Amino acid sequence: MDNDANPYPQGVGYIDGEYCAKQDMRLPVADLGFLLSDMTYDAVHVRNGRFFRLDLHLDRWERSISIRRFTTLPLDCDGVQQVLMECVRRSQLRDAMVYLVATRGAAADGLKDLRSCDNKFMAWAVPYYGVIAPDRMESGVDIIVSSVQRTPPEAIDPTVKNFARIDFADALLEAYDRGCEHAVLLDRDGHVTEGRGWNIFALSGGKLVSPDRGVLEGITRRTVVELCRHTNIKAEYSALSADDLRAADEVFMTSTAGGIMPVRKIDDQVIGGGVRGPVTKRLTDLYWALHDDPAHSTAVDY
Ligand code: PLP
Repeated sequence: MDNDANPYPQGVGYIDGEYCAKQDMRLPVADLGFLLSDMTYDAVHVRNGRFFRLDLHLDRWERSISIRRFTTLPLDCDGVQQVLMECVRRSQLRDAMVYLVATRGAAADGLKDLRSCDNKFMAWAVPYYGVIAPDRMESGVDIIVSSVQRTPPEAIDPTVKNFARIDFADALLEAYDRGCEHAVLLDRDGHVTEGRGWNIFALSGGKLVSPDRGVLEGITRRTVVELCRHTNIKAEYSALSADDLRAADEVFMTSTAGGIMPVRKIDDQVIGGGVRGPVTKRLTDLYWALHDDPAHSTAVDY
């Protein structure tokens, strides 16, 4: 079935042990996931009816659950995987973004003791989308280097995917004021980190660099580095300054939501020739080709 004929055009959700239309999902305001951002999540995608690198997403999820000490979740990892499959199956979507979210849950009383909470699990599958507008996928986006500092990793561990994102929100407000839609944030030492929902790469002198610290260890970022190894493109995780970024030959963002997305301009600096560079294009083609490979993807049983 194609997405147009779908009875759930806004997707399918799972909450409190039940499936429902995505737009009918509700979270009580007493949930400490809302009150404290005491939560974690992951996001995986389905392309042409196949989950991409589901094993890696579930590994990252299990690690996040363990670090957040969510010990009273109603489902184990196999149960979670079945729910994700079922959300996609019920939605009939061939191309989907699929979210899995765990929150601390609501506390027993006004003391809000974290230990009194039953952890909550929810998931949803919605039509696939990217973090940048579809008409910018080839031409690239204009971004700013924000003056808002990324929350330090010692305060909130960015490798545990989370919705504690006021730094990103403030950086986006700054970007809008400066006529852009996206912002990359620096850490307190002036090193480049990431943006809301994406990692970043810069190509200089034939070598790709993506920040090595203070970021989510993105699965798209990892896939790009693996592709580079197989194609003899030099790539490494290492520190990157805002000046390195502005002076690069090519810059791209990476995310489950959109894949590999070119950057055209940073602040007022046009990157390369202002068009998607050859390395970005080559990696983008290779990235999407991997999606049909059974070693990297898992079929949905519709
Ligand atoms: N960085 C942040 C802050 C993110 O939220 C995301 C994805 O949502 C990414 C990077 C990209 O990670 P992935 O490639 O696993 O989607």
